[in-house]
Amino acid sequence: MYFKDSSSIIKYCNDNQLSLFEYALSYEMSLSELSKEEILTKMHEYLDVMKNSIKEGLKSSKGGKGKIIDRKAGDVYKSALSSHKNASGKTMVKAISYGLAVMEVNVTMGRIVAAPTAGASGIIPGVFKSLQETFELSDDKLVEGLLVAGIVGSLIAKNASIAGAEGGCQAEVGSGSAMAAVAGLYMLDVDIKHIFHGGAITLKNLMGLICDPVAGLVEVPCQKRNAIGVANSLIAIDMVRSGMESYIPFDEVVEAMKKVGNLMPSCHRETGTGGIANTETGIMYNHKIFGE
Ligand code: SF4
Repeated sequence: MYFKDSSSIIKYCNDNQLSLFEYALSYEMSLSELSKEEILTKMHEYLDVMKNSIKEGLKSSKGGKGKIIDRKAGDVYKSALSSHKNASGKTMVKAISYGLAVMEVNVTMGRIVAAPTAGASGIIPGVFKSLQETFELSDDKLVEGLLVAGIVGSLIAKNASIAGAEGGCQAEVGSGSAMAAVAGLYMLDVDIKHIFHGGAITLKNLMGLICDPVAGLVEVPCQKRNAIGVANSLIAIDMVRSGMESYIPFDEVVEAMKKVGNLMPSCHRETGTGGIANTETGIMYNHKIFGE
C-alpha cells in the first residue's frame, strides 16, 4: 500500500496498528518483490557499508585526499575524545566526525551508501551511529530505522526532490537530515503522531539552501554541510523528544520546499556557477583544477 503523504501513512498505521517500520517493510516488499528476510539481509549489508565507511574515514592519515578538501574527520573525532571541552559537547562532535568521515571516503572514491545521494551520504550513518552509541540500539533496530528513512526519502522524492540539481542543497542535505531525524525518532520509540515533526523541523531549518559546489566537485561546501545535516537531525530529535512540534506539518513543508526549489535559478542548482562556487576563491580552485 503506497501513500503519497505522511498524514495518510500515519492514519493507515494507526488504523491497522502498524509501526512505521512495518509499513515501510510491506511497502518495500511490494515494490521489490523480495521477501522480508531478503530485504532485512540487504539492509544489514547497507548498514555494514555505512559503518565501514565511518571507520575508514576516521583513519584520516591513511586515506587520500580530495581535489580540494583534506581529510579532517579523524582530527574532529580525536578532539571529541580529548580532555578539552567542546562547544557543542562530545556526543555532537563525535557525530559530526562520523558524517565527515563518510563524505571524505566518498571524495576518495571509497565505498559508501548513497542515501539519499552521494553528496548527502554522511548524514544517516552519522546520526545512526551516534544514536546507537548513546542509546545502545541494536543493529536490528538500526535496520528498521533504515527502512523508515527510506519511506521519508521516497515521500520527499515523489512530492519534491532529493537532487541538488533539481531543488538545491535543501533537497539533498535537507532530505538526508529529515530522513535521519524521522528514523531516529522512530528508533527511540517516539509515537508515530510525532515522528514526522522531526522531518518538518529539519527541512525547515535548511529551507532555501542552494547547491553551489566549488569547481562542480562534491567537496566544498558538501563536506561540512553533511556535518550540519547530522547536527540538524540530532537537534530536531532532541526538540521533538522534549515535546516540541513543527507548527507547519511535514507534508506542507515538503510542498514549500518544492516551490522554493522551482524558484531557484540554475546557478544555484549544482551547476557550480553560483553561491560560493562563484567567489574569487571558488573560481581560483576551478582554474587550478580544471585550468579553465
Ligand atoms: S552543495 Fe550541492 S553537491 Fe554539495 S551536498 Fe549540497 S546539493 Fe550536494
